Order: sequence, then C-alpha cells, then structure tokens
Amino acid sequence: MTCLPATTGKKLGLVIDLDTCVGCNACVTACKGWNDQGAGAPLSDQDPYGAAPSGTFLNRVHSYQVHPVDAAALTVNFPRSCLHCDAAPCVTVCPTGASYKRAEDGIVLVNEETCIGCGLCAWACPYGARELDQAAGVMKKCTLCVDRIYNDALPEADREPACVRTCPTGARHFGDFSDPASKVSRLSAERGGHALMPEMGTAPVNRYLPPRRKDALATSPLAPLLDVKASGFAGWLDRLLGKL
Ligand code: SF4
Ligand code: SF4
Ligand code: SF4
Repeated sequence: MTCLPATTGKKLGLVIDLDTCVGCNACVTACKGWNDQGAGAPLSDQDPYGAAPSGTFLNRVHSYQVHPVDAAALTVNFPRSCLHCDAAPCVTVCPTGASYKRAEDGIVLVNEETCIGCGLCAWACPYGARELDQAAGVMKKCTLCVDRIYNDALPEADREPACVRTCPTGARHFGDFSDPASKVSRLSAERGGHALMPEMGTAPVNRYLPPRRKDALATSPLAPLLDVKASGFAGWLDRLLGKL
C-alpha cells in the first residue's frame, strides 16, 4: 500500500466512545440532515417508503450483541464514518484527483466537480466509509462538516460536526489530534483510544474508546471467549473486547 506523507498542519478527527453510545442514531439523522443542504449534491434516497429502501449516508451505526458465557448479553453500538486516514488509499487510488487530503487540517474530501463516480475509492476504503450517490453519480463521504467548523455565520457552539453537536450522550468528540492538550488527544490517551483495523496500514485519525470494564466481565476467567454475533467489523470488535 502506498503511504502519503503525514500532514503538516492540524489533524482533525473524532473520538467515539463505545461505552456511552446508545445506538440512538441521532448522529445519523443530524449528519444526513445537514449534508442534504450543503454545497454539493443532496444525499439521495431510493424507494424510501417502499419495500427495499436504500440511500446515501455519511455516518451509520451498527449494533452488535456480545454473549459472554457467564454474564448478561452486552450490546455494543458502533458508529462508522470516514476516519480521515493519514495514509488514505481512497486518495491514492483516485484516477482524477477528485479524492484528496487537505494539508492544513487533514480532512479527506471529494471534489464533486471532478469525481467521475468510478467507485474505485469505495473499493479501496477498508472501512466502507464511502457511498456512491445513486442519483448524483458522485462519491459521498464524511467531511467532518467542513462547512460548519469554519463557518463564521454560525454561533461558535455550532462550529463542530453535526453528529457531535447532536449526540445526546456526549459520546462523540471533535478536535485536533496534533495538539496533545486537545480534548480528543487527552480522551484518547486517558481511555486507551483504539485505531480501527490498524493492520490495514491506513493510519486512521479517528479513535474509538472501548467499553469500560463491567464487573461480571472483568472477573470472569472466560472473558476472552466472548462470542460476537455479528459480521463486518466483528473481528476487530472481538479483539477490542478481548482486552477488557
Ligand atoms: S448520537 Fe451518540 S449515542 Fe446516538 S448513535 Fe450517535 S454516537 Fe451513539
Ligand atoms: S476511512 Fe476510508 S474513505 Fe476515509 S480516509 Fe480512510 S480510506 Fe479514505
Ligand atoms: S468515485 Fe470519484 S472520488 Fe472515487 S475514485 Fe472515482 S473519481 Fe475518485
């Protein structure tokens, strides 16, 4: 895998707390709502009220049931969006240069004017973080609400990603990982923030805070034998939960 040089400016990203995320999907709705009215094409839906609805989302939440052998079942809610990787394969694979990572703040974006909708970047992203808008024919992904965070027309409290602003449990945090004193850097250091699937070599910026130890799990000698009934990121979650 080709690696890009590390950015020299800020390193903006999210910390997502898997301990306090309740899977309410408010962040999904807020993300869709904000990005439907942005500068680019709206996020289309297909057959939204029919038998097989589908649509374009920049953030989705997956819920996994974990069944310890000797303790009550545990639900882990897992929000998934672009991790603004430092070595982003979606950027290097793009044939038109539409997919790019900004040097000044590390945000990975798509230029919809030059995107030809070939889908190579979605294929290259190991996290499923890009979605081709079926109506617009262009690639969509999380922008970290670049049109909010620098927007002087908004009250200062609103100059953060819509998902972070909306989350009712405070499970989402936004900030600059290049600053060791920032909230996201401190949270990640204090709570053991995990990179998602680091073996892929993408150097993701976002960090996930693992669920805190629960007494029943912590005292069980069988804790590492957690059986994650899920697909997709189950392997990564399995390893993460095995460290509890
Ligand atoms: S809004 Fe917060 S609690 Fe609800 S699903 Fe999103 S991250 Fe989890
Ligand atoms: S998460 Fe996927 S879309 Fe986002 S920067 Fe990394 S490889 Fe690219
Ligand atoms: S879909 Fe667009 S952004 Fe993605 S690789 Fe093709 S041209 Fe680049």
